[in-house]
Amino acid sequence: MRDPDCIFCKIIAGEIPSDIIHQDEMVTAFNDIHPRAPVHVLIVPNKHIANNNTFQVKDEPIAGHMFTIVRKLAEDLEIADNGYRLILNTGEHGHQEVQHLHLHLIGGHPMQYPMG
Ligand code: AMP
Ligand code: ZN
Repeated sequence: MRDPDCIFCKIIAGEIPSDIIHQDEMVTAFNDIHPRAPVHVLIVPNKHIANNNTFQVKDEPIAGHMFTIVRKLAEDLEIADNGYRLILNTGEHGHQEVQHLHLHLIGGHPMQYPMG
Protein backbone atom coordinates (compact mmCIF):
# COMPACT_ATOMS: atom_id res chain seq x y z
CA MET A 1 0.00 0.00 0.00
CA ARG A 2 2.92 2.36 0.53
CA ASP A 3 6.43 2.86 -0.80
CA PRO A 4 8.96 3.46 2.00
CA ASP A 5 11.01 5.77 -0.23
CA CYS A 6 8.07 7.87 -1.47
CA ILE A 7 7.86 11.46 -0.21
CA PHE A 8 4.09 11.65 -0.67
CA CYS A 9 3.59 8.39 1.28
CA LYS A 10 5.57 10.02 4.10
CA ILE A 11 3.38 13.15 3.94
CA ILE A 12 0.21 11.00 4.05
CA ALA A 13 1.55 9.16 7.12
CA GLY A 14 2.50 12.45 8.81
CA GLU A 15 6.16 11.48 8.88
CA ILE A 16 7.38 14.70 7.25
CA PRO A 17 5.89 18.17 7.61
CA SER A 18 3.33 19.39 5.09
CA ASP A 19 0.33 21.67 4.88
CA ILE A 20 -2.50 19.11 4.78
CA ILE A 21 -5.89 20.72 4.10
CA HIS A 22 -7.96 17.55 3.75
CA GLN A 23 -7.52 13.91 4.70
CA ASP A 24 -9.95 10.99 4.76
CA GLU A 25 -9.79 7.22 4.37
CA MET A 26 -9.00 7.39 0.66
CA VAL A 27 -7.25 10.65 -0.22
CA THR A 28 -5.05 13.40 1.18
CA ALA A 29 -4.79 16.99 -0.09
CA PHE A 30 -1.98 19.39 0.78
CA ASN A 31 -0.59 22.67 -0.48
CA ASP A 32 2.16 22.39 -3.09
CA ILE A 33 5.52 23.38 -1.61
CA HIS A 34 6.25 25.44 -4.74
CA PRO A 35 2.90 27.05 -5.65
CA ARG A 36 2.47 28.28 -9.24
CA ALA A 37 -0.72 30.21 -8.42
CA PRO A 38 -2.58 31.57 -5.36
CA VAL A 39 -4.24 28.16 -5.02
CA HIS A 40 -2.05 25.14 -5.78
CA VAL A 41 -3.16 21.98 -4.01
CA LEU A 42 -2.09 18.40 -4.63
CA ILE A 43 -4.74 15.69 -4.23
CA VAL A 44 -3.26 12.20 -3.81
CA PRO A 45 -4.60 8.70 -3.12
CA ASN A 46 -3.53 7.39 0.29
CA LYS A 47 -2.62 4.17 -1.50
CA HIS A 48 0.72 4.34 -3.32
CA ILE A 49 -0.06 4.36 -7.04
CA ALA A 50 3.02 5.48 -8.99
CA ASN A 51 1.16 7.15 -11.83
CA ASN A 52 -1.66 6.69 -14.28
CA ASN A 53 0.25 3.90 -16.06
CA THR A 54 -0.19 1.69 -13.00
CA PHE A 55 -3.77 2.71 -12.25
CA GLN A 56 -6.01 -0.37 -12.04
CA VAL A 57 -9.72 -1.03 -12.49
CA LYS A 58 -10.01 -1.79 -8.77
CA ASP A 59 -8.72 1.76 -8.06
CA GLU A 60 -11.69 3.39 -9.81
CA PRO A 61 -13.49 4.30 -6.54
CA ILE A 62 -10.37 6.21 -5.47
CA ALA A 63 -10.34 8.26 -8.69
CA GLY A 64 -14.02 9.09 -8.33
CA HIS A 65 -13.48 10.25 -4.75
CA MET A 66 -10.51 12.37 -5.81
CA PHE A 67 -12.79 14.27 -8.20
CA THR A 68 -15.39 14.77 -5.46
CA ILE A 69 -12.71 16.18 -3.14
CA VAL A 70 -11.49 18.47 -5.93
CA ARG A 71 -14.99 19.89 -6.24
CA LYS A 72 -15.29 20.40 -2.48
CA LEU A 73 -11.87 22.01 -2.18
CA ALA A 74 -12.55 24.29 -5.16
CA GLU A 75 -15.72 25.47 -3.40
CA ASP A 76 -13.97 25.90 -0.03
CA LEU A 77 -11.06 27.78 -1.62
CA GLU A 78 -13.49 29.95 -3.62
CA ILE A 79 -12.12 29.16 -7.06
CA ALA A 80 -15.07 27.09 -8.29
CA ASP A 81 -16.99 29.94 -9.89
CA ASN A 82 -14.05 31.52 -11.71
CA GLY A 83 -12.63 28.13 -12.67
CA TYR A 84 -9.37 26.28 -12.31
CA ARG A 85 -7.01 23.82 -13.93
CA LEU A 86 -6.66 20.16 -12.95
CA ILE A 87 -3.40 18.60 -14.09
CA LEU A 88 -2.15 15.03 -13.89
CA ASN A 89 1.42 14.55 -15.10
CA THR A 90 2.53 11.05 -16.07
CA GLY A 91 6.06 9.87 -16.84
CA GLU A 92 9.12 11.59 -18.17
CA HIS A 93 7.53 13.40 -21.11
CA GLY A 94 4.66 14.40 -18.82
CA HIS A 95 7.20 16.08 -16.49
CA GLN A 96 6.18 13.90 -13.55
CA GLU A 97 8.67 14.59 -10.75
CA VAL A 98 7.09 12.71 -7.84
CA GLN A 99 6.24 9.07 -8.52
CA HIS A 100 2.99 8.99 -6.54
CA LEU A 101 -0.19 9.77 -8.47
CA HIS A 102 -1.39 13.32 -7.82
CA LEU A 103 -3.79 15.87 -9.22
CA HIS A 104 -2.67 19.51 -9.28
CA LEU A 105 -5.61 21.81 -8.44
CA ILE A 106 -4.52 25.24 -9.63
CA GLY A 107 -6.55 28.44 -9.45
CA GLY A 108 -6.41 32.20 -9.13
CA HIS A 109 -4.16 34.76 -10.79
CA PRO A 110 -1.38 34.92 -11.70
CA MET A 111 -1.06 31.32 -12.84
CA GLN A 112 2.34 30.02 -13.92
CA TYR A 113 1.60 26.50 -15.07
CA PRO A 114 2.67 24.56 -17.03
CA MET A 115 6.31 25.53 -16.78
CA GLY A 116 8.74 24.94 -19.64
P1 AMP B 1 4.82 16.65 -10.78
O1 AMP B 1 5.80 17.35 -11.67
O2 AMP B 1 3.45 16.57 -11.38
O3 AMP B 1 5.33 15.32 -10.30
O4 AMP B 1 4.63 17.61 -9.54
C1 AMP B 1 5.18 17.34 -8.27
C2 AMP B 1 4.79 18.50 -7.39
O5 AMP B 1 5.08 18.14 -6.05
C3 AMP B 1 5.56 19.79 -7.68
O6 AMP B 1 4.62 20.84 -7.98
C4 AMP B 1 6.32 20.07 -6.38
O7 AMP B 1 6.40 21.45 -6.08
C5 AMP B 1 5.49 19.29 -5.36
N1 AMP B 1 6.21 18.85 -4.18
C6 AMP B 1 7.37 18.18 -4.13
N2 AMP B 1 7.71 17.91 -2.86
C7 AMP B 1 6.72 18.41 -2.08
C8 AMP B 1 6.48 18.45 -0.68
N3 AMP B 1 7.34 17.91 0.20
N4 AMP B 1 5.36 19.05 -0.23
C9 AMP B 1 4.48 19.60 -1.10
N5 AMP B 1 4.65 19.58 -2.44
C10 AMP B 1 5.75 19.02 -2.93
ZN1 ZN C 1 3.75 7.01 -2.41
